[in-house]
Amino acid sequence: MNQKGFMQYHLKRSRRARRLRVAVYFDSRVVVTAPQTLGQNAIEQFLAAKQEWITRTQRRFARRPRIVLPVVGDYSDNKDEALRFAQSKVLQWNRIYGYSYKRISIRNQKTRWGSCSRKGNLNFNYKIRFLPERMTDYLVVHELCHLQEFNHSPRFWQMVATALPDHKYLRKQFRALVDAK
Ligand SMILES: [Zn+2]
Repeated sequence: MNQKGFMQYHLKRSRRARRLRVAVYFDSRVVVTAPQTLGQNAIEQFLAAKQEWITRTQRRFARRPRIVLPVVGDYSDNKDEALRFAQSKVLQWNRIYGYSYKRISIRNQKTRWGSCSRKGNLNFNYKIRFLPERMTDYLVVHELCHLQEFNHSPRFWQMVATALPDHKYLRKQFRALVDAK
């Protein structure tokens, strides 16, 4: 969300909040929780006052070591096993959903872990086999749900939550991995 050129932040309105709160997440997202009726100006003033702390915290998170993936050799050495692995994971999680898909392919991309095409094809990075297990689960469930819902709407996340109630936590962990080569 981008509020008129001001720093990017997510705004949550809360009936219970008595005052403004700001949190900086591990993936450097800024989330502001505000009382229901508080005006935009008050929120932005508050954020301006906190700006220095926010930037400092974001920098600190950025410096944190990312989860390092093992060196896994090259694509052609791993492609077939990665495909079998991805197929079995998709089958496993699709028992919950029962969606239909066309084909599963393995890709060699630096920063993409998975995708779902509008035609109903699922693609996964050849390093999928080397992700921590919960991360694989998150990736596969995420792409599976895109077969049904081609966006990240609340409905989409509801579907993800059917299989993974802790998906918010998993997503945060996953994002820490995304640009790990
Ligand atoms: Zn997605």
